[in-house]
Amino acid sequence: MSNKVKGLVLLSGGLDSILAVKILLEQKIKITGLVFVSCFFDSALANGAAKKLGIELKIVDFSKKHFEMVKNPKYGYGKNMNPCIDCHTLMLKCAKEIMVKGGFDFIATGEVLGERPMSQNKQSLKLIEKNSGLTGYLLRPLSAKLLEPTKVEINGLVKREKLLDISGRSRKRQLAMAKKWKIDWFPTPSGGCLLTESQYSDKLKELIKHCPNPELGDIELLKTGRHFWHNNITIIVGRDHKDNLVLQKAKRDSDIILEIKEVASPTTLIRSYKGKITSGAIEKAKKLTKFYTPKAKNKTKISFSVII
Ligand code: SF4
Repeated sequence: MSNKVKGLVLLSGGLDSILAVKILLEQKIKITGLVFVSCFFDSALANGAAKKLGIELKIVDFSKKHFEMVKNPKYGYGKNMNPCIDCHTLMLKCAKEIMVKGGFDFIATGEVLGERPMSQNKQSLKLIEKNSGLTGYLLRPLSAKLLEPTKVEINGLVKREKLLDISGRSRKRQLAMAKKWKIDWFPTPSGGCLLTESQYSDKLKELIKHCPNPELGDIELLKTGRHFWHNNITIIVGRDHKDNLVLQKAKRDSDIILEIKEVASPTTLIRSYKGKITSGAIEKAKKLTKFYTPKAKNKTKISFSVII
């Protein structure tokens, strides 16, 4: 196979996407990895994987576009706030632009037919391909033989006979391939996307309920501290020194920061999404800050530094 064939592979850094790259590299196709970054996932795993695979990696931050989609996904959510069909479609639409600009012959993913009931059944795979405008140019090397041949297989740019027919949730075959290729540096299947986590999804839902159009900074803060609400006012109590620093840095002019004066305490950020911060919210924040300060629990008198 000619070295001039160029493929762009969506590389999350998980085993399936690593194997998709390996299968294509075996055909001497020039592969570039592509990873998207948003408020809910980063490029750390993909970076590591690209280095190990020896391929170039393009990193695209599509946080804004992605969050707009997360608020109102056409095909709904999975078990938590993960809108996987819409998310994949958006990634592939963006990837198509890069494919066209960069002169790539096709796009490939590590998707496996039937691995995820909602987003990787035959109908969803077809829908994602169509809605992303990639009909005929979207290759799924791990399941290709179970799917209609793509244009790049038909015209011989990719050898279909060397592609696979994996389906279902068992990872037996993937693990066997990893062993064969001595790939022992892949992460556990769970990691990666915060939208698949129930606790995080609850926090996000609550934020959207009180603030339908949060800024990216508001979403970022969901990763920090313990979150409480008092009407439309959020109270975030730091869990450790790192959280405290993040909260201090995140303070806006209209926010209030609380700390206990007498003993080391968490930093607590109070932010209103509608109207002014009320005295009720400040009282609640003080109680919470005291509750999470073990050294203050038995003290009858404590005072707070209040940064406005
Ligand atoms: S798990 Fe997260 S990153 Fe992956 S497709 Fe679903 S929403 Fe997107």
